[in-house]
Amino acid sequence: MQTFQDIENIRKIRAAEQSKTWGLVPTMGALHEGHMSLVRRARAENERVAVSIFVNPIQFNNPDDLEKYPRTVERDLMLLEDEDVDLVWTPPKEIVYPPRFQTHVAVEKITQVLEGATRPGHFLGVTTVVAKLFNMFQPHRAYLGQKDYQQLAVIRQMVNDLNFPIELVPCPIVREADGLAMSSRNVNLSAEGRQQATCLYQSLVRGKELIDAGERTATNVRREMTDIVLKHDRATIDYISIANPDNLNELETIERKVLISMAVFIDSVRLIDNMEVEV
Ligand code: AMP
Repeated sequence: MQTFQDIENIRKIRAAEQSKTWGLVPTMGALHEGHMSLVRRARAENERVAVSIFVNPIQFNNPDDLEKYPRTVERDLMLLEDEDVDLVWTPPKEIVYPPRFQTHVAVEKITQVLEGATRPGHFLGVTTVVAKLFNMFQPHRAYLGQKDYQQLAVIRQMVNDLNFPIELVPCPIVREADGLAMSSRNVNLSAEGRQQATCLYQSLVRGKELIDAGERTATNVRREMTDIVLKHDRATIDYISIANPDNLNELETIERKVLISMAVFIDSVRLIDNMEVEV
C-alpha cells in the first residue's frame, strides 16, 4: 500500500496504471465497518483500489463540528493495509485548497432540501471536493454509502450533468447490533447519548411499519416518528422527512417508493439516518 499527501504522486501512479480498473472510496477517515464495507466491495470489483482520507473543511457549516470530528489516521492506515488497498491519499488542507483556490462546483435544486436546507454550504463543499477527487484519481468506479443518501443523489446529479465517466456504486447502510447506523461521529456520544441514539432507527422502523400497514398520509407517519424520538430527553429533531427518492421533495401522500430520512441531535452530536420503503 502506498500512501501520499501530494497530488503529483497520485497522478503518476494513476498514469502508470492506465490499463487497470480503479475503484475509489472517498472518506473523511475515523474508519469503521461502514467504510470498510465500501473498501471491500471496491477491492472485489477492481484491479486497483484507492482511498482518500480528508476531513474536508469547506463542507462543515459548524466550526465546532469540524474541530470535534475524530481523526485516527494511523489506525485508519492499518485497517486499509489489512484490506489490501493499493493507494491512500491523506492530504493536508493546504494541498487541497491552496491560498488562491477559487473554484466551486454547485449542484442546484437537489441540494436545497433536507441536509442542504439545514446545513448551508455543505453540499457545495462536498461536490467541490468530490469533483477534485474524480479528476485526480480518474476512477472507473466510486463507492458511496447510502447512509448519506442525499450526498449520493447530489453526486449522481453532478456526475450526470458534468459527464464524469465514472460508475457510482451505492453501498447499503452498515448498522450496529442495536440498529444505530455506524458513523464516525458516534464516538462523540456520551454513554447515555449512545443508548438514546437508537431512537433514529426505532423511529425509521416505526415509519416503515406504518407505511407497510397501509398508512398513506405522510403527516401521520411523521407525527408517530416524531413522538418516538421525543421520548428521548437528549434528542432534538432537526428534520424528519418523507420524500420522493428521486428529487427528495417532501410528500403529502405516499403512493410509490419513498425515502424516510431524519437528522437528530443527541446532545450536541448531529446524526442522520434513512430508509427506503417500497409501497
Ligand atoms: P465519511 O467518512 O463519513 O465522509 O463517509 C465516507 C463514505 O462512507 C460515504 O460514502 C458514506 O456514505 C459511507 N458511510 C459512512 N457510514 C456508513 C455506514 N454506516 N454504512 C455504509 N456506508 C457508510
